[in-house]
Amino acid sequence: MLEIKNVKKSFGKQEVLKDVSLRVEKGDVIVILGPSGSGKTTLLRSLAFLEKADGGVMMLGDKSLDMHNASSKDIAWVRKRTAFVFQNYNLFANKTALENVMLGLTAGRGMKKDEAERIARKALRDVGLEDRMDYYPSRLSGGQQQRVGIARAMAVKPDVIFFDEPTSALDPELVGGVLSVMKKLAEDGVTMIVVTHEMKFAREAASKVIFMDGGVIVEEGDPETVFTHPKEARTRKFLRRIL
Ligand code: ADP
Repeated sequence: MLEIKNVKKSFGKQEVLKDVSLRVEKGDVIVILGPSGSGKTTLLRSLAFLEKADGGVMMLGDKSLDMHNASSKDIAWVRKRTAFVFQNYNLFANKTALENVMLGLTAGRGMKKDEAERIARKALRDVGLEDRMDYYPSRLSGGQQQRVGIARAMAVKPDVIFFDEPTSALDPELVGGVLSVMKKLAEDGVTMIVVTHEMKFAREAASKVIFMDGGVIVEEGDPETVFTHPKEARTRKFLRRIL
């Protein structure tokens, strides 16, 4: 359903992604692990066209796109089919939770306001925020703000949702609530690509774990295999440090 081939990206002289290829099936939950600086976020941002790759091809649905030379029309087409959950939530501070979720539907998808409101209310109920819909972000905890971010992503019913370290800005006691919303999405068959250090989530929810280091995919496989029988020395070293 989504495939990328030979994605490259450099910042100045530093090669951050070196020919990364990846295939995602419908309903996959792909967890990307790896040390800091290995290129995980850059890969995710390139997939969402928030970063322009230096080369690579993306196949999404029945379209094939040159990731370096995609037209703004093609980029808009990809954005309509994907959603992004940011580490720092990226909510509009001057909009309520409900308005934040609605905006993705009205401004983002051209939906009528009353239908957008109905869908946004359901998405907020699904993430357990039925009693916080009219709150501004400043009056919500980090965990609640991130659940608004997830509701905003779910509401547009994208083909795939990208999560960039969605719990790493949260106080430890708020992480569980966000992860359980993500696990529910995974169980509902939503296709997700998640950069995270949450090993328990990776073990329990991932259909595939990808270990990146130095801008390449070093190892990939089902979580049980990667965690208990990693093939590569670099994976073993990383897991020893983190588990
Ligand atoms: P990870 O998510 O695995 O920690 P990143 O993709 O964030 O890794 O970063 C990979 C490398 O690219 C790092 O060395 C980082 O400093 C560099 N990098 C990321 N974004 C930029 C940028 N906008 N400008 C310059 N260097 C960047």
